[in-house]
Amino acid sequence: MLYSNELFRQAREIIDARRMEAEARVNEHMRAFAQQEPRYTALKQEMIDSVQEALKSVNMMPEEAQKHLIKQRDRNLRAQRDVRALLAEHGLPEDYLKTRYTCEKCMDTGSVGTEPCACFTEVLQKLAFDEANKNSPLRFSTFEDFRLDYYSDEYDDTFKCSPRQRMQEILDYCKEYAAHFDTDQPSLLLTGETGLGKTHLSLAIAGCAIRRGYKVLYNSAQNIFSGLQKEYFSKGENRGQFESLVLECDLLILDDLGAEFSTTFTDAALYNVINTRMNMRLPTIISTNLLLPDMEERYSRRISSRLIGEYVCLRFAGADVRQQKTDE
Ligand SMILES: [Zn+2]
Repeated sequence: MLYSNELFRQAREIIDARRMEAEARVNEHMRAFAQQEPRYTALKQEMIDSVQEALKSVNMMPEEAQKHLIKQRDRNLRAQRDVRALLAEHGLPEDYLKTRYTCEKCMDTGSVGTEPCACFTEVLQKLAFDEANKNSPLRFSTFEDFRLDYYSDEYDDTFKCSPRQRMQEILDYCKEYAAHFDTDQPSLLLTGETGLGKTHLSLAIAGCAIRRGYKVLYNSAQNIFSGLQKEYFSKGENRGQFESLVLECDLLILDDLGAEFSTTFTDAALYNVINTRMNMRLPTIISTNLLLPDMEERYSRRISSRLIGEYVCLRFAGADVRQQKTDE
């Protein structure tokens, strides 16, 4: 994954702030405790002295140095033990005077040796996803606020059941999909006319996946293609950052496919996204107003055959729910 220097800078800032906060917190504890308990100041000095004294061993003969070090170590341990006893006397926890870092592994420095720590990469990824998702026009929807009563319960010959029944099945499927979401899940193609809840359900899935810690990118196909195109023709230092997110995120949601302005670029980009993610076995959810025959007409055969052959197709039923809500 490629990240811009700006994201690196922001991630650095977050990690530094964590460390400074942890250190400020412990300094405040030390100050307060010294005020409360005068014996603590002396013990603290004892610990500092023992460390300074231990350093003198570098100028000693090996045998003498060894003895000296053991003596100073014991002196230090004794002082530490006395401090713990004092803390207990005051009813304070044993680690009250210890720096509590968000990440103990790197002590909030962001690196372990010369390698970036996992906590740093995590912050970086989170920033990249927030940035990529910030232009998404839609807030998260939930399964709970998906209303089936907008769908007719009259028999519909296309579905061999009522739209409400059909939507109940789709809702159950999506809930199940979201509850057990992992990257082994199949890709979904949500088709049907405008206003039948395709975006609602895909965003409900996105919300669940994000809560479970997966990296999700959701946006309209139009925005994704323009993002890719802008990046493709730019010479910026972060070229490739957005493309990596689109191709490598745990779940990609491409909303309203077919509404984009179609060009040779969008066609190539769409194929690349579908194909690469499929080869990496990463799920994608595509919603579209196009039905399968329109799909074959609109996109090249290599795209439509992959979508039809490899995606689980859920055809939404009913009449425009958004229109019904406005009419209420
Ligand atoms: Zn760390």
